[in-house]
Amino acid sequence: MNEILTLPDARLRQISKPVEVFDLALKTLLEAMQTSMEQGPGGVGIAAPQLGELLRVVIVDCSLGLHPCKNHGRLLMVNPEIIYQSGKALGREGCLSVPEWVATVQRSKKVTVRYQDISGEYHELAATGFEARVIQHELDHLDGVLFIDRVLSVHDLVRRM
Ligand code: ZN
Repeated sequence: MNEILTLPDARLRQISKPVEVFDLALKTLLEAMQTSMEQGPGGVGIAAPQLGELLRVVIVDCSLGLHPCKNHGRLLMVNPEIIYQSGKALGREGCLSVPEWVATVQRSKKVTVRYQDISGEYHELAATGFEARVIQHELDHLDGVLFIDRVLSVHDLVRRM
């Protein structure tokens, strides 16, 4: 069982390193991330640094969310990078690593992300709506950024009941 790190753990604030070797260790990491994500309430995404692994790996799966939205199912993304973004949208976010808070956060409405799969093959994917939001949230984790850093006003930050 892998424990999800929560604030104020300093590892959540580190910049993660790119994956260079696509081996069994990467597959094992992704399996651990998947398991941890499914344990969390409404877990629609997870980033490797949340398990203390400072590598640029995320999982996004909006099909698990409470609000049905257009999505690509389960995405295992290695070395993901946003190469195009447009529009602005406000939406509610929470995080397994910041369990006590939810907040309204501004994100791009659409993103195109370039990433490698578990074999190292490159892919590009365009996402909109909630899926685009989750991708931006998870990629932020790879640079040590949390959703609470992007809150525009303290009034947008709400303590979970
Ligand atoms: Zn998060």
